[in-house]
Amino acid sequence: MSKALPFRQLVLASGNRGKLAELQSMLGDAVKVLPQSQFLSEEAEETGLTFIENAILKARHAAHASGLPALADDSGLAVDALGGAPGIYSARYAGGGGDAANNAKLLEALADVPDAQRGARFISVVALLMHADDPTPIVCEGAWHGRILTEPRGSNGFGYDPLFWVPETECSSAELAADQKNRLSHRGRAMAQLRSRLGLS
Ligand code: IMP
Repeated sequence: MSKALPFRQLVLASGNRGKLAELQSMLGDAVKVLPQSQFLSEEAEETGLTFIENAILKARHAAHASGLPALADDSGLAVDALGGAPGIYSARYAGGGGDAANNAKLLEALADVPDAQRGARFISVVALLMHADDPTPIVCEGAWHGRILTEPRGSNGFGYDPLFWVPETECSSAELAADQKNRLSHRGRAMAQLRSRLGLS
């Protein structure tokens, strides 16, 4: 049974449009989600060495600037053959050239890696802080296991989606409809836990 939340709106600590759309649809009508761009111009510096640290520092930064509860997702792709890279550096893997450059660099790095060794997983850590000094953030983690393709497929989603083969649906994650991806994905799994911790489902 769902219950009322102690807040009606929160700020989302992300400037990534793909992520924003996914998180917004996962939270549904329970809470109004405000983009952090309404409150701050400079995003938090991701100085942590783990997804958890970065999620908390992004949420704290947004809570501080807005005076509202803040939700952050820190996520990335961990590729087995690359020892878990690009990991927390997924967004800046190719040094700031964006999704296309990141994907090109990943294909290049795996050029000689056979199919059987192209395993990878997406990871999402979401952190919810009630206020900037909240000493007990709610932190949830989700993973999504798949494989890296040898060429891009599909045009939905964002980031590495065109290169991520999803075994359960036998297509790339960029070939999934938004609601299908949200049901299966690392972010969907982390957010399902968060919804349950909040008593929303
Ligand atoms: P963050 O904004 O620092 O958490 O970086 C997340 C980065 O990880 C994104 O820019 C993408 O490169 C990658 N990523 C995370 N989640 C996904 C996803 O669902 N699909 C594709 N790429 C993702």
